[in-house]
Amino acid sequence: MASITDYDFNGKRALIRVDFNVPLNDQFEVTDNTRIRAAIPTIKHILDNGGSVVLMSHLGRPKGHDDAFSMRHIVSEVEKLLGHSVTFAGDCISNEAKSKTSVAKPGEVFLLDNLRFHKEEKEGDEFFAGQLAEHGDVYLNDAFGTAHRAHASTAVIARFFPHDKLFGFVMENEIKNIEKVLGDAQKPVTAIVGGAKVSSKITILANLLDKVDHILIGGGMAYTFLKAQGGDTGSSLVEDDFLDKAREINASAESKGVQIHIPADSVVADKFDNEANTQVVASNAIAEGWMGLDIADQAIEAYKNVLTESKTILWNGPMGVFEMSSFAKGTEAIARHLAEVTKNGAFTLIGGGDSVAAINKFELADQVSYVSTGGGAMLEYLEGKVLPGIAAIRS
Ligand code: AMP
Repeated sequence: MASITDYDFNGKRALIRVDFNVPLNDQFEVTDNTRIRAAIPTIKHILDNGGSVVLMSHLGRPKGHDDAFSMRHIVSEVEKLLGHSVTFAGDCISNEAKSKTSVAKPGEVFLLDNLRFHKEEKEGDEFFAGQLAEHGDVYLNDAFGTAHRAHASTAVIARFFPHDKLFGFVMENEIKNIEKVLGDAQKPVTAIVGGAKVSSKITILANLLDKVDHILIGGGMAYTFLKAQGGDTGSSLVEDDFLDKAREINASAESKGVQIHIPADSVVADKFDNEANTQVVASNAIAEGWMGLDIADQAIEAYKNVLTESKTILWNGPMGVFEMSSFAKGTEAIARHLAEVTKNGAFTLIGGGDSVAAINKFELADQVSYVSTGGGAMLEYLEGKVLPGIAAIRS
């Protein structure tokens, strides 16, 4: 499989699936340009190597054509970040767009309108994918955030470029960094898994058992594990349907030599409220009417010790209800310690939803090794699933 750095873009039109699904305010201004910024190196690389670029993405969840979701709103933001003019080409499969991109000259950049104006995009329609394919001589997927979808522009389209399909730098980086944890990781490997529910993390836990030495459990899901071991969990979030699953995970961990760590103590509250009364108790002795909303000092210390000894660390899911300041201490302590161990040479990957929000909240994103850009895609990767957007390029 060719890589973006080996490919000769000279005189070629590069059709790139980017993730420009950015938030807009009432004036249709981009309020967070992270995803656009992420795609800039791929675009620049192609322009610097004699190619032209046709960008395609979805934006929001339009029902049919709807100007509120038009890509034309983001043209100026792309121009600003790229430092280069960008031509809005109109509807992604219109003759107007095709006639513009068919005569693209080296150095030109076009942006197609929202792919999801056509229901065929999400349906993975092959005819629609073929029409999109007319815009390029080479196809690049640089949208990790949609790599878990078998949509027309993320997967199906690759069939039309059997010898000219590549990952962009965003995708290459995501895959490289995740594989540093799931592939040939430096041991000991530790996964910190938190968040609300064990039900949404069961597949991840099961998959990680074959790859890690330690799993540090935090967040609401810890209480299902604690109850499964006979603990009193009071009014904590417990999924009774998953007690057996939790026991299975424990048994499987034991047979595989993986240590699962459960928080020794918890910050408990008498209601789900930042202003609630709180106390610190043993996590397996929570009285009725009290709920565990954060890990407490003993657990924090024990988890920090494991992390200090680890060479490779994955963090998915907060340790407590970090959105409320009264229950943010455990998550913040772990985030700060991750920055510390990164400085001392550990590889730290933050991935999937709320742990990314947490590391950003504590302004530590630039002090860990890698923060994944793809929420759902990252979770499915961690679950061990083959992502259609990755498979389509590799096959
Ligand atoms: P997830 O999307 O599964 O990673 O869950 C993230 C959510 O879990 C965050 O919004 C947290 O507030 C929530 N959470 C973390 N710890 C707890 C807890 N002990 N009880 C209830 N919710 C929690």
